Amino acid sequence: MIKAWEEKLGAELEKREAKRLTRSIIATERAVEPVLVRNGRRFLNFSSNNYLGLANHPAIIEAIRNGAKRGAGATASRYIIGHEAETDQLEKEIAEWKGTEAALVFPNGYMANLGVLTSLLGRSDAVFSDRLNHASIVDGIRLSGAHHFRYRHGDLDHLESLLRKADEKGIQRKLIVTDSVFSMDGDQAPLQGLVWLKERHGAALMLDEAHASGVWGGKGEGLAHALGVERHVDIHMGTFSKAFGLYGAYVAGNRLWVEYIKQTCRPLIYTTGLPPSLVSGIRQALALVIGEQGRRERLHRNSEQLRTALIQMGLDLRGSSTQIIPLMAGSEEKALQFSKRLEEKGILAVAIRPPTVPEGTSRLRLSLMATHTKEHLRQVISTIKEVWMNES
Ligand SMILES: *Cc1c(COP(=O)(O)O)cnc(C)c1O
Repeated sequence: MIKAWEEKLGAELEKREAKRLTRSIIATERAVEPVLVRNGRRFLNFSSNNYLGLANHPAIIEAIRNGAKRGAGATASRYIIGHEAETDQLEKEIAEWKGTEAALVFPNGYMANLGVLTSLLGRSDAVFSDRLNHASIVDGIRLSGAHHFRYRHGDLDHLESLLRKADEKGIQRKLIVTDSVFSMDGDQAPLQGLVWLKERHGAALMLDEAHASGVWGGKGEGLAHALGVERHVDIHMGTFSKAFGLYGAYVAGNRLWVEYIKQTCRPLIYTTGLPPSLVSGIRQALALVIGEQGRRERLHRNSEQLRTALIQMGLDLRGSSTQIIPLMAGSEEKALQFSKRLEEKGILAVAIRPPTVPEGTSRLRLSLMATHTKEHLRQVISTIKEVWMNES
């Protein structure tokens, strides 16, 4: 009977290969730096989410080392063994930074989204989710069993018509959930409009600031703060795995919401606490994120310079206004080929294909770092120009 499994697995893999959807994971050194190494070859790194260049910061690494002196692991769920005072301290600092009453740390962003959505939503609730939201949001919604309304990307009119539909069905509790900065498009959610709609329809709003935490706002609080709408967000979520350069995630909001999540969130209850080294590392990274505005400024300057140059070449950037810049290719084949040509010339920009992005919108995803130099930018611009001209 095992044969039935082997047939299925083999056939599925072949199907993926035929559609050029197979993914490979490649041994890579120095991925934390603007220039990384693969097979002994150096590549300019335009593929990481280490936006502020903190992933190799000596103070963070030192904090991790010191944290590890207290033990290698947390040894059990926080609900069983408890947590160090340092974890309390970190959660207080996060709440203060976000301007909320309370905060919770999670092992990672995927679990935070899955956990919060399954904890809050039940079958009688409705959730309104942007079509381009991150997979962890989609999975959380599916697992929750709530009525799932997907609105066209950034389309407030479509969202409003769906909110009305839910009202007509007599659904009491509505939750709007969105990425603040979209991970594969680099554009921003229309937060002011979303806030207006949520107030008007009595819905709650959850914001995933994975790509905005550390990057937007005067202290890197996120896009909601940058736009001055943070008080209207009921659940703030973000990660320490991108601009913070580490691993882990947070959820922040009013005491009532956070306490409810703490009491009911299975992915938090049934998992081991964060290791002491990580807690210490995140605290140090948070201090740097708050204090080092210069890194944000360098990142934004780099992003703007690259976007301007690419737009001048006539490339379609899909409304990117951030450190994430997509170069639209269309087919999987074309995206892979474009990525390969750049790689041959020493530049790493990964091809993004379905199911990460919708069918027919395969692309290259370029991501900037504060630590990219003028020379790195000059090189990526001239190489894209050369490759793009030859291809099209
Ligand atoms: C990366 C990402 C996550 C998942 O965070 P991890 O800490 O990597 O698990 C969640 N949401 C968005 C929008 C992301 O880009």
